[in-house]
Amino acid sequence: MMSVTPIPALSDNYIWLLRQDNSPSVCVVDPGEAAPVIEFLERESLNLESILITHHHHDHTGGLAELIKRYSPYVIGPDNSAINGINETVGDGDQIRIMGRLFDVIATPGHTLDHISYFTAGIPALLFCGDTLFCAGCGRLFEGTPEQMYSSLHKLTELPEDTLVFAAHEYTQANLAFARAADPENEHVKHALQECEKARALDRPTLPSTIGRELRINPYLRVGTDSVRQAAGTQGANDNDLATFSTLREWKNRF
Ligand code: ZN
Ligand code: FE
Repeated sequence: MMSVTPIPALSDNYIWLLRQDNSPSVCVVDPGEAAPVIEFLERESLNLESILITHHHHDHTGGLAELIKRYSPYVIGPDNSAINGINETVGDGDQIRIMGRLFDVIATPGHTLDHISYFTAGIPALLFCGDTLFCAGCGRLFEGTPEQMYSSLHKLTELPEDTLVFAAHEYTQANLAFARAADPENEHVKHALQECEKARALDRPTLPSTIGRELRINPYLRVGTDSVRQAAGTQGANDNDLATFSTLREWKNRF
């Protein structure tokens, strides 16, 4: 059984730590900082066997150099020379084996062009989607087009509904506040915001989410509904799903 633990880092990042049963060899995803990872590994007497990287941003890679020096992990990530220390570059359709489980690599450009996500089927199915899909939100478009992000998100929604979604940031509360404006008729959003506020008041992570839950509360995945389409229409174009998506993403930037 694989367990996944959040290591909070920087202001609002989670570095996800993957552990198989009681094996001392573990994997981390997107170590934006080394110190909190080292502290966790030391405290639990664990060894860092591998690292998965989703994209080149510093808040996902900033801890690489120090972790490589200390543990010599096997580092897997996208084909981007801006990231130093990758042992194996992977892209869409590739499969990798991490601690006995097979992971599919899914290209998810939009936030950046090099962005990839990692999915493993099974019970439970797990998705590590970096800054592509957040709970009730999606990443900003730094390098890609709205079309790219829209199609990346669509690919992720085709995964099984019970897939656990491990996003890289604790952005849920702000995303749900936006979702309330962008999807005003949606009762699931109101409930989710209440749950989220409770969790944050106790300093608990609001992640993982699930694909099924995101389909209910994430406005970017609900651009075909009247509620979202009409709300988007007060801010910009909503002639088709992509236009609605694009309008939402820009609206969020100034929300
Ligand atoms: Zn990023
Ligand atoms: Fe990030």
